Amino acid sequence: MHKLLGLFEIQELIAEHGQAVVVDSVRIIQEEYRNILRLGANAENNDFRKEVFIERVRDKISLVFGNSLRPVLNLSGIILHTNLGRALLSDSAISAINMVAKNASNLEYDVNSGNRNEREAHVEEQLCSLIGAEAVTIVNNNAASVMLVLNTLARRKEVLVSRGELIEIGGSFRLPDIMKSSNCKLREVGTTNRTYIEDYAKAISPSSALIFKAYSSNFTIKGFTKVVEEKELVNLTKEHNLPFVLDLGSGALMELKKHGLGQKQTPLVKLKKGIDVVTFSGDKLLGGPQCGVIAGRKDLIIRMKKNAMKRAMRCDKFTIAALAATLKLYQNEEKALQEIPTLRLLTRSKREIQSLADRIFPDIANKLKGTAKVEIINCYSQVGSGALPDKLLPSVGISIRKGIGKKGGAFPNRLASAFRKLPIPVIGRIHGGALVLDLRCLEEEALFLKQIQNLNIRADL
Ligand SMILES: *Cc1c(COP(=O)(O)O)cnc(C)c1O
Repeated sequence: MHKLLGLFEIQELIAEHGQAVVVDSVRIIQEEYRNILRLGANAENNDFRKEVFIERVRDKISLVFGNSLRPVLNLSGIILHTNLGRALLSDSAISAINMVAKNASNLEYDVNSGNRNEREAHVEEQLCSLIGAEAVTIVNNNAASVMLVLNTLARRKEVLVSRGELIEIGGSFRLPDIMKSSNCKLREVGTTNRTYIEDYAKAISPSSALIFKAYSSNFTIKGFTKVVEEKELVNLTKEHNLPFVLDLGSGALMELKKHGLGQKQTPLVKLKKGIDVVTFSGDKLLGGPQCGVIAGRKDLIIRMKKNAMKRAMRCDKFTIAALAATLKLYQNEEKALQEIPTLRLLTRSKREIQSLADRIFPDIANKLKGTAKVEIINCYSQVGSGALPDKLLPSVGISIRKGIGKKGGAFPNRLASAFRKLPIPVIGRIHGGALVLDLRCLEEEALFLKQIQNLNIRADL
């Protein structure tokens, strides 16, 4: 310990942050190293070089000081990247957050009468009219939407789900587990690849509460398959007086078809079909803050609002402010497409991305001259977060691979790591032995070029 604290870089950290925090951080890293040694050769992070040690201490200190959260440049080609924070907010949504953060507001207060009001009143009417719903309610995220719907409408009863839709969508959202936590019984129907309307009909009993369908947002089943049409399920549920609930995952508030995105999965279309309740996220295709929207039949929504669980899931004022401002932009489609970053990036033309690539290429090529082969390539972006999973958006990227004649299969990974070490980390993706920087989501061109100047080729590659 004494020797470690004596290192020049550690002394610098002590001067900046104080002895106590640095000593604690060094101790934690030491303990991590001991664990790595115990695991032996198979352990990850078994790099004991001094630079690596100091970097790890530095990262630990950032965590302690609470400034570990910082901006990155998302050049991964995934527009709604859950690990990178999903939807970016429009300027007007950001101002709205500022407004309620800085000032007292009429969040739950009717200024006219001086009486208490519902916080959801600020978004309810706009949401209802945009998706053609009788009623809506909002919660913290879409996983909470599903739980609230199930716990309210199917407590201690059976929920019918096709075996082909027992999904896991990452981040520990697994339908069978959600059923359990919501206190309902999962009644599996049909088989993994084929489910018929008769399978549902046969499974209906006095203990059935509802039929649940989850939009398969991150996989497709191909081959010998049969999925029951939603219209058939609408008829069956009406006949038996059971609610039909659809978890859409992502909910677009406008038809994106004319922009080359065959989006027939809008909440509006689903409710029109006669589905009783739909749920979707606020920070996927909607392009707003993290929240879960539950929309549909008024009698059912009223019951959800009364559920004690709802209080534990209620949205905060920042979410409501940002959502209201985002919804307002949808009153003018052109404006929504320009000002809501998710929609802007989704519909950004390949031509525009190509000219951005042409502009920034010389700087990158120059910086990496003699080290790597840099080229402009055609690539494909994805929407991400399970929205439109099989839709690939033609885009343009910068591909960087090791120079001809140079060895080293680890090059793309080392290069990716060097880009991540920049003051504003640049996140690309590795594809076919190259690091690819998909430029679809790059809007801060000057900032990016400044980062490139900071790239430390000699030390990192
Ligand atoms: C994304 C998604 C969810 C979870 O939504 P969160 O807002 O992340 O909680 C649930 N169901 C489906 C089908 C999804 O795609």
